[in-house]
Amino acid sequence: MPAGFVHVAHGDIEAVEQAITDDTAAIMVEPILGEGGVVTPQPDYLPRLRALCDKASVLLILDEVQTGNGRTGKLYAHEHYGITPDIMTTAKGLAGGLPIGAVLAVEKAGAAFVPGSHGSTFGANPVACNAALAVLHELDQGGLLEHVEEVSATARERLAHLRKTHGRIAGIRGLGLMIGIELDRPARPVVEAML
Ligand SMILES: *Cc1c(COP(=O)(O)O)cnc(C)c1O
Repeated sequence: MPAGFVHVAHGDIEAVEQAITDDTAAIMVEPILGEGGVVTPQPDYLPRLRALCDKASVLLILDEVQTGNGRTGKLYAHEHYGITPDIMTTAKGLAGGLPIGAVLAVEKAGAAFVPGSHGSTFGANPVACNAALAVLHELDQGGLLEHVEEVSATARERLAHLRKTHGRIAGIRGLGLMIGIELDRPARPVVEAML
């Protein structure tokens, strides 16, 4: 893990507030925790983080690698919460399966980057970039976001039914097609059996 990060519990706005010092450059968070268990925050969490960052003059960085590119029913998950990050990371679904990663920044943050500050051997390779353009075109013009809403509603309806009839599902979380199923027992054996 890169040095210089202080970790606080997800969703705990007071803990974030207390962790900010004069040396704090930015706050980085996933809008919805992915590997952390598909945890959606309280609706006011990201707006409060945004306000905190503005007040303390620190940047808000959102890691949208898992939540981005239509997975939650919006192009990027922060749109559900009515906020804009200063810097955002995206990857995974961005090029529909071809390897890619990207960092987006607003002017005041992006101006700190010059060619070479963020190097990568295969950075901006034309095949992956073209794939990303095709994906973004589909998301923008192809009705994919509406489709996510539709399929998500069906999936949630069926999962809710399963929950009623089987009783081993303790909770269903997430947004759009980023869905987490919480079990009333350790999930690993279930996952292994399904694999
Ligand atoms: C997969 C993942 C990453 C890493 O993405 P790379 O493209 O491998 O750099 C970062 N953040 C989250 C939330 C991820 O799920």
